[in-house]
Amino acid sequence: SMVPGRIFEVSAAPTPGGGAVAVLHDVTEVDRVEKTRRDFIANVSHELRTPLTSISGYVETLLEDIVELPENAREFLSIILKNAKRMNRLTEDLLALASVESGEYKLRLQRVRASALVSDAIESLAGMVVDSGVLLVEGSVTTEWVMADVDAMTQVFGNLIENAMKYGGAGGRVRVGARLLEGSVEFYVQDFGPGIPSEHLDRIFERFYRVDKARSRESGGTGLGLAIVKHVLMAHGGAIRAESELGAGATFLFTLPCASPPAVPGEGEPAGK
Ligand code: ADP
Repeated sequence: SMVPGRIFEVSAAPTPGGGAVAVLHDVTEVDRVEKTRRDFIANVSHELRTPLTSISGYVETLLEDIVELPENAREFLSIILKNAKRMNRLTEDLLALASVESGEYKLRLQRVRASALVSDAIESLAGMVVDSGVLLVEGSVTTEWVMADVDAMTQVFGNLIENAMKYGGAGGRVRVGARLLEGSVEFYVQDFGPGIPSEHLDRIFERFYRVDKARSRESGGTGLGLAIVKHVLMAHGGAIRAESELGAGATFLFTLPCASPPAVPGEGEPAGK
């Protein structure tokens, strides 16, 4: 019989006779340890925010021309500021990851067309050039309905497109699109850069996993972007994978479950478009 207050995972194990037995694994302890780890990371990140803001603020003030600075000071202060900003990005990403990893992460799901999700996401990537050969949206993006948190998906697209531009090489093209599969829509972000060696393809979604640590640091990466993306998609009931041919580029493909069309025609369509 079940033990009250404990959580079990059930799996099937074959028996020598060709039958199967159900195996119960006690995951209560694992869950508790995981939660403690997540809470700890979230607390530390949160506590680091205030002192970091203070450091950046004072350094920025010193760098304004009001103060006369001794030799070298300007250069050193710039380095301090750059690193404070880097730490700030890291704490923000750690907080975001702790939040999406926890069961308490709340999505604001709405019914939206896949094509609208793509164009909304790209519109909010200010400064990125669309349809001028750099960021190219496929002409045949499916208009199928999906359930999604539009803001969360904007972050997903933002992360993947930023990576494609960062690792895909200077001025490299990035293709974005979506197609209908059975019961889900598959979105993709493709670049034509050096690609990712196959042995790393599964692991790049782990937190802090980078193919080239030095390169990632140099470009200001935290190594958490893809882990956040993966958990946001999992919370949607979707999934993500990467494909790559070395020297020819990398493609990130992710799915979102289809939604039924709205009962009232026109609902969910952007107004005035
Ligand atoms: P970050 O970019 O901050 O290092 P991410 O989690 O976004 O962290 O990515 C993890 C790693 O995956 C990167 O360090 C890089 O090695 C690899 N990667 C991600 N996107 C691409 C891409 N489009 N082409 C080649 N490598 C990539």
